[in-house]
Amino acid sequence: MQRDKISEHVEAVANRPCQMCGSTAWQVDDRFSYLSEDPVEMGRFAMRVIPVGCSTCGRVVLFSARFLEI
Ligand SMILES: [Zn+2]
Repeated sequence: MQRDKISEHVEAVANRPCQMCGSTAWQVDDRFSYLSEDPVEMGRFAMRVIPVGCSTCGRVVLFSARFLEI
């Protein structure tokens, strides 16, 4: 479900080649990650993100789960 939605987003909207190597071999992860200014306060301030990685050079980009309503 999540993977389908982010895959669709990467294909339809965020569909540019990787800025580092020019590849379009994006790999959608099936997990969320969390960003926080303070790990101790993770529960209060964490932003939920979905990592999408370039399988050619290893660059990772993050998409906001909230903005994509995932
Ligand atoms: Zn790349």
